[in-house]
Amino acid sequence: PVSRTPEIQATRIELPVVAEEQKIMEAVHNHDVTIVWGSTGSGKTTQVPQFLFEAGYGDPKGPSPGIIGVTQPRRVATVSMAKRVGEEMGDMKHRVGYKIRFDGTVTANTAIKFMTDGVLLREVSQDFSLAKYSAIIIDEAHERGVNTDILIGMLSRIVNLRKDMAKTDESVKPLKLIIMSATLRTADFAANSRLFRETLPPVVKAEGRQHPVSVHFSRKTKVGYVEEVFKKVKRGHEKLPPGGMLVFLTGQDEIWSVAKQLKQAFPSTSAQGSGAKVAVSAEETPPEDEDIALNTEQSNQWDAESDSDEEITGLDEDEVEDEFDIGEEKEFEKLSKVHVLPLYSQLPTKQQLRVFDSPPPGSRLIILATNVAETSITIPGIRYVFDTGRAKSKKYDRETGIQTFEVGWISKASAAQRAGRAGRTGPGHCYRLFSSAIYEADFKEFQDPEIIDAPLEGVVLQLRSLGLKSIVDFPFPSPPDVKSLLKAERLLSYLGALSTDGAVTVTGRALSAFPLSPRLGRMLYLGKNHKIVALSIALVAALAVPELFIPQSQLNLGDEEHEFDEEDDDRIDELRKSYNASHATLSRWDRTSDAIKLLTALCASAHATDTEAWATSMFLRPKALKEASMLREQLTSIMRTQSPGAIGSYAPRIPQPTDKEIKMLRQIVAAGYIDQVAQRGDLSPHPPELHRRPKRAIDVPYVTLLHSTDSSAGSSNGADANDSSKYVYLHPSSVLARTAAKNLPQYIIYSRLQRSASSVPGKIPKVRMHPLTPVS
Ligand code: ADP
Ligand code: MG
Repeated sequence: PVSRTPEIQATRIELPVVAEEQKIMEAVHNHDVTIVWGSTGSGKTTQVPQFLFEAGYGDPKGPSPGIIGVTQPRRVATVSMAKRVGEEMGDMKHRVGYKIRFDGTVTANTAIKFMTDGVLLREVSQDFSLAKYSAIIIDEAHERGVNTDILIGMLSRIVNLRKDMAKTDESVKPLKLIIMSATLRTADFAANSRLFRETLPPVVKAEGRQHPVSVHFSRKTKVGYVEEVFKKVKRGHEKLPPGGMLVFLTGQDEIWSVAKQLKQAFPSTSAQGSGAKVAVSAEETPPEDEDIALNTEQSNQWDAESDSDEEITGLDEDEVEDEFDIGEEKEFEKLSKVHVLPLYSQLPTKQQLRVFDSPPPGSRLIILATNVAETSITIPGIRYVFDTGRAKSKKYDRETGIQTFEVGWISKASAAQRAGRAGRTGPGHCYRLFSSAIYEADFKEFQDPEIIDAPLEGVVLQLRSLGLKSIVDFPFPSPPDVKSLLKAERLLSYLGALSTDGAVTVTGRALSAFPLSPRLGRMLYLGKNHKIVALSIALVAALAVPELFIPQSQLNLGDEEHEFDEEDDDRIDELRKSYNASHATLSRWDRTSDAIKLLTALCASAHATDTEAWATSMFLRPKALKEASMLREQLTSIMRTQSPGAIGSYAPRIPQPTDKEIKMLRQIVAAGYIDQVAQRGDLSPHPPELHRRPKRAIDVPYVTLLHSTDSSAGSSNGADANDSSKYVYLHPSSVLARTAAKNLPQYIIYSRLQRSASSVPGKIPKVRMHPLTPVS
């Protein structure tokens, strides 16, 4: 009983998934688990939930009264897809809702609920049978995020549980599971008899009428790909017939830099109020990997003129005569204007949705996007794709504990997805900014599942809390190695969350009630015991949100509102001065602890009359700050229910902590990161031989006590301090970076180790630690 507008009807008919409605629904009726495979844009996300709805799922009076849950790995897609499905359903719009952390539109009337996979995971821990759902759709399963993998493992069991319950209890209905993927790498699910013990799920294909896309490799692969992609898009706009362009970059900074250059090169449409203001909207999304800024050492290298022409390999291929001679449409109307739109997860939803509108007449649509446009969001009218071949991702080395946000090559499967974006509406072209030699040699077939290299302590605690006896037997679609699982268990017992026999302790249960990593949960628990609840909640909230401070390296990038010219040195100088001043202000409670500095920032923000303006003036990211405040409020209310009397109602303004309290907070931080201690190299049992005493604090070598930074280099101590694999150094953003080298503390607790990607081949950058606090 859904009445759709004629326009919506017309676009639906075109979608390959709609052509397969009957096949899909038959598979769902006849099986507990169904896998739907269809290339990006074929209509999986928007249509499959509606098929279920029209078949009676989510109808409180029907035979499958539970609601339809749809999970997404990205918050961006959760919100925008719920909106789109709502629009498509016309007068049934009110039956569609979404839920992301801190935001949602779900009501008692909701039949289709879009949510992030993290939201569903928490619901599983509250009700393992997921009684309120009749069907769960796990979307974008090919991305293989940790949450998705864990959910698929759990749901494979929940489906059986619900079937068994339904046999004896008439009020319980079976649960349908639908796994949707954009790549054909479904074997990890479809042919996995550990996961699906009784019958393997059927795979329904919805093959799109994909138009041919000609792929053009570059002859050479340049290091400075941002500069290179700008030049290429510029030439392309001048030479190519009309058609939208989609450019894949790795992050927000690059997007703004290319946007700025394009708008300088061509007349642009966006003068009429496109301002990508750093506005905070109701549907703002917390940062994902692509939003994390890389450190100074690296970003500077992108700008360096000398680097941008450097080649990654000298392998030459045949010279292409005219890269944009596509041998068709010799006569066409030249477009003069460009309609440049950014697309990344931090962008407010309203602005993201602009990519779906047609560009103003006489202009060419140019979308500058991150990975979001690879499979989660399909943009109409794209004829040309420019692919840098890179993406930013979080890497975690389990042996060493080193985490990196690096720009690296995407997989061949991802490159194919990106190229495919050009063939939705007609034949298209994909220009790759790398050579076929690099592609063949350095691109993996598929991306590794995230669980293969992510911290596991949260996962293990959650599985244990659900009463799982043996984590090793959990049906992971791709099991992480046993050693890593054991290591996570060891950390959990350091934190007091697991007893020696692996059972969840009272502490463990208490800390798993919070939507936090076990480390931060442990800190809250200690804060409660030491009766500094309000302060420790604020501390944990400030620590939980990544990138509260705008990195100094991003100062001169500007955005659409404040564009600086590179020559504007005075301006930049002044900016740098006030940047340093505000950081000095924020370190006034404690000059040596970065953790306390974060706490100070969050507490101070509560005193501002206009928080957003204050944040901007203090070089804090308004969105991150807002998220930290909301988390603070949420943690307060969980604490109030969990331990009545521990804390009063939420009061954002709290008195400045006494010295004694600060000392206690520092000890609490140390307890949460008990295994991440570094000792000053020259005070360690085997001091390094230094040619020269380092002058700058950031050159002073530290040795980590529990994680070795390079376990494979088993050999030993007293080695050359330049051997970057053995020592770790302060990250330049730390408050300690300003300390005189000789006054640096003997022991430092750090939150993570990081090595930036090397953009100069052969040179390995130093491992940097992000200090939290000295221990004294
Ligand atoms: P899939 O999930 O298989 O990748 P989708 O269901 O996301 O496919 O998209 C199906 C079609 O709907 C695509 O052609 C896409 O361009 C279109 N679409 C999705 N969201 C919107 C929107 N907000 N406005 C207009 N068209 C949209
Ligand atoms: Mg989709």
